[in-house]
Amino acid sequence: MSLQSKIIELANQYQAEMVANRRYLHQHPEVSYKEFETTKFIKSKLDELRIPYESPLETGCVGILKGGKESDRVLALRADIDALAMNEEGDAKKEFFSKNPGAAHCCGHDAHTSNLLGVAKILTELKGELEGTVLLVFQPGEEKLPGGGKLLCDTGFLQSKNVQAIYGLHTSPTHTPGTIATKEGPLMGSPDEFEVEIFGKGGHAARPHEAIDPIVLASQFVTIAQTVVSRSIDPTEPAVVTVGRIEGGTAHNVIPGSVRLWGTVRTLNSETADLIAQRLESILKGITEGAGGSYTFDFNKGYPAVINTSAETENVISTMQELFGEKSAILMERPIMAGEDFSFYQEHFPGAFFFVGSGAEESESTYVWHHPKYNVDDRFFQTAAPLMASLALNSK
Ligand SMILES: [Zn+2]
Ligand SMILES: [Zn+2]
Repeated sequence: MSLQSKIIELANQYQAEMVANRRYLHQHPEVSYKEFETTKFIKSKLDELRIPYESPLETGCVGILKGGKESDRVLALRADIDALAMNEEGDAKKEFFSKNPGAAHCCGHDAHTSNLLGVAKILTELKGELEGTVLLVFQPGEEKLPGGGKLLCDTGFLQSKNVQAIYGLHTSPTHTPGTIATKEGPLMGSPDEFEVEIFGKGGHAARPHEAIDPIVLASQFVTIAQTVVSRSIDPTEPAVVTVGRIEGGTAHNVIPGSVRLWGTVRTLNSETADLIAQRLESILKGITEGAGGSYTFDFNKGYPAVINTSAETENVISTMQELFGEKSAILMERPIMAGEDFSFYQEHFPGAFFFVGSGAEESESTYVWHHPKYNVDDRFFQTAAPLMASLALNSK
């Protein structure tokens, strides 16, 4: 029997267990950086498999699986483990509905965690065929800045292990089970946030000449901000500036003293984001100073863009195709502008991130990420586990 057939057979054998583990985690979600029980659960499963682990951060851990074939090869597989700070919606009688109010696995990280535990089990079974070392990265805090991926990279733990490549995946409600999707180069955007306060001078609505109207200034800012992408950014470079919230004023006949605005900037590279931040601030400065007002401007950089290296992306695609046929791997034409802190690892190691189909009408799993009814089709594991295990075993 070929190594690939063995991997698929083991994944099928462990399918029920991966589903059960995911449901357990789904029922017991914990928000970013508070994944204490989740970490205990992961460690107990690694203990069962006699896989040693280290804890570079307060939550999460890194399992260290040494193969039977002596080699310098070190590969990292990453799963994020945190839930979102929100309430799950839907049938509360569903057997694995969230038991923790204010926390819900509505981004599929429960499935990522359970999948990596399943992969650990497959690799343990096939240890004799495994070359070098596989690091099983159970990472906390993907959903919340600064990002568990950043914190882990800041410890230098993975760097000290001489990781040569890293792979990560995400459930995808827009792809059917049995398929994956990815692309070389930019895959996901960099989400940054800005917060503005414009100060004028409050007064009577009928005596505007005695006031400095921050609502007029805020309106000018929102309008001129629209020209940043169209006039200051290379037309071939993707970028978005959106003001999503404005707050100011209390009555129809009062000019308020200040107005606040919140917005997001999405780009595929850090230089573009820096340029946008700089342009937004100079527009703000020009408008407010010209009118005798003032401003504050905070720009918070989110995660960098996810940029897949070519050899690792090619490896994911060809491994998937050898496992499940040519059509099972979808080559994406463009990146999506959602963010992922997997990008921090890619600043240090070659790596590829990919989406694994988890959406099907019959299992009500086609809701978008972060939807309160988000769900993952159980068949996700039948693709995700063999693919991750095959990447580790270099089986193609
Ligand atoms: Zn998410
Ligand atoms: Zn996610």
